[in-house]
Amino acid sequence: RAVHVERTFDGQGRTSDGHRVELLANVADPAAAKAAVDAHAEGVGLFRTEFCFLGRDTEPPVAEQVEAYRGVLGAFAGKKVVVRTLDAGADKPLPFVTADDEPNPALGVRGLRTAAGHPEVLDRQLQAIAEAAAAEEADVWVMAPMVATTAEALGFVDACERHGLRRAGVMVEVPAAALRSRWIFAHARFGSIGTNDLVQYTMAADRMLGPLAALSTSWQPAVLELVRSTCEGAAQHARPVGVCGEAAADAVLAPVLVGLGVKSLSMTPRALADVAAVLSRVSFAHCRALAHLVLEEPDADAARAAVRRELADVL
Ligand code: PEP
Ligand code: MG
Repeated sequence: RAVHVERTFDGQGRTSDGHRVELLANVADPAAAKAAVDAHAEGVGLFRTEFCFLGRDTEPPVAEQVEAYRGVLGAFAGKKVVVRTLDAGADKPLPFVTADDEPNPALGVRGLRTAAGHPEVLDRQLQAIAEAAAAEEADVWVMAPMVATTAEALGFVDACERHGLRRAGVMVEVPAAALRSRWIFAHARFGSIGTNDLVQYTMAADRMLGPLAALSTSWQPAVLELVRSTCEGAAQHARPVGVCGEAAADAVLAPVLVGLGVKSLSMTPRALADVAAVLSRVSFAHCRALAHLVLEEPDADAARAAVRRELADVL
């Protein structure tokens, strides 16, 4: 039985019984921020700052970074914007922070790892983010990509606090961080699960390789176990966890993620209406039941089929 689903989003995500789920946008530049505002995103859950750095031989000066960040923060005045610090390396090489002779760049010096060799680059970026936030009076949250250990999380939070950035968190995209969530969130104030990389590292499957597409899905029960582990560890410290990888844009998976304990979903703006519509038709108890169900399934196809059956009246 097909039920018509209203495809509009009024700017507040919730389940049918009122459990709040923040629905945010992934943006990479000021033009994308405008599209996110038009789609009624509640804020930005992933601001990829690489646009300011890519294609350059030298680090952009702080003043230039401030201008670039203000372009996005200004579009979301008074709303939450989660700024991700530079995610250089692997598919995004940058001559002033990454080496070009690594045999396995996806397992190399990328994301926050570049800050060990170039702490001043991270420091200047945090300064620019803090200045842009002050100028726009934005509700800025800052997070680091590719955090794997508690020490890295602590080091990043400390660096943020030196710049007056108190909402400092981590991306969870390395299985080690998901497994050690209880320790990581003793320091990190929030988490955002990057399912694109979390799937890649959990399944040992290059995220760019088409022939591995059947492995490379967030429906893999192993990945969903790590989502659960992340949320449980963070909940012990009352820290919110969101999802900002492609999985957040999968309207069928959204209720499962909410049932696993995810508080916000950040996605491409054009997915917001569909995700909001499905969530508005499912109760939180039903989300919890779906989360339980997927973890009992043997593989990704079975997990997806089971949820599709359960949500037949909603989709
Ligand atoms: C992710 O890994 O899921 C993520 C959101 O980051 P990126 O796609 O930029 O690596
Ligand atoms: Mg990533």
